[in-house]
Amino acid sequence: MEFNLQQVCGNARAGILKLAHGEVPTPIFMPVGTQASVKALDFMDLLALKAPIILANTYHLYLRPNDEVIKQLGGLHNFSQFPKNFLTDSGGFQAFSLSSNAKVCEEGILFKSHIDGSKHFFTPKKVLDIQYNLNSDIMMVLDDLVGLPAPAKRILESINKTSFWAEESIQYHNLKKYQAQEEGREFNNHIFAINQGGVDRKLREMSARDLSAMGDFDGYAIGGLAVGESNVMMYETLDFTIPFLPKDKPRYLMGVGTPRDIIEAIARGVDMFDCVMPTRNARNGTLFTNEGKMAIKSTRFKLDAKPLDEKCSCYTCTNHTRAYLHHLFRAGEMSYFRLASIHNLAYYLSLVKNAREAILQGKFEEFYKKIVEIT
Ligand SMILES: [Zn+2]
Repeated sequence: MEFNLQQVCGNARAGILKLAHGEVPTPIFMPVGTQASVKALDFMDLLALKAPIILANTYHLYLRPNDEVIKQLGGLHNFSQFPKNFLTDSGGFQAFSLSSNAKVCEEGILFKSHIDGSKHFFTPKKVLDIQYNLNSDIMMVLDDLVGLPAPAKRILESINKTSFWAEESIQYHNLKKYQAQEEGREFNNHIFAINQGGVDRKLREMSARDLSAMGDFDGYAIGGLAVGESNVMMYETLDFTIPFLPKDKPRYLMGVGTPRDIIEAIARGVDMFDCVMPTRNARNGTLFTNEGKMAIKSTRFKLDAKPLDEKCSCYTCTNHTRAYLHHLFRAGEMSYFRLASIHNLAYYLSLVKNAREAILQGKFEEFYKKIVEIT
């Protein structure tokens, strides 16, 4: 996978990821489309938002409708009609968090479906096979994630297992790539490793060194953060982890976060983000604007004829007033979910776009200060 680093400003980076379904300028925020659908939106909304990549969830799509079904229907892109890129997670996190009794063992994760209680076993190869069927542009390896705080012994076990599984994954992936080349087939699936180690400097370093030594990964994710530690600890962990990740590969901070978290992580050299926050908060009535967060149900918006965010040019802000959104929210109207989700995603996408422009102009520090004031 080609990743061109265009500019570095302090530690913040601007680059371009070249994928089969279009270029991705970085830093980038990836809207979460768990079920091959960003909640309340369709592919036309995502195209209007100019989202170059979205995330889908391996665990959910494997259980329903199943990856073989999606393969038969032309992979995620054809199935959903979203023609840009998809990143899929490994499913390990959901197998663990959603299942009533998941068990991590040497070879993988044994879990019960949260839908019908059926038993399944995710191994490093199995989750890649699912992701090949989905035809993901970027696939994540299976990792062993630990909630924080956790005993050092458990975290050590997690990074050892994660490294072992990563090795197995990259060997399998290289074999698949080789087979595709031999057969003259297109092969557009790229693979990212996941760094673990809690908030421990030595363990993060050990994990980063192990994974970097395997060489062939297309990118590196930082996993196991935003799982209970404080924001300051998360920022510190990024400070001491990122120097051990390869400079020429994209870095992806999984599942993070607030606008402030994103800007702090960009300042430390992270290139990619995903989080349910913009869409989930939108549905719950919290909207992100250039004036700060807004609770749309508040009666102060009842007669407010201004657009939601005067500096935003999204579909919602172009067409509707705060008063109308306030009314739709209070009335529980379906259209509220779409309009609010469009705006919050537009806010996140413009945050990373503006950060990128500031980096390219060598003015990231000024931009950072401005954002920190309002977030
Ligand atoms: Zn807007």
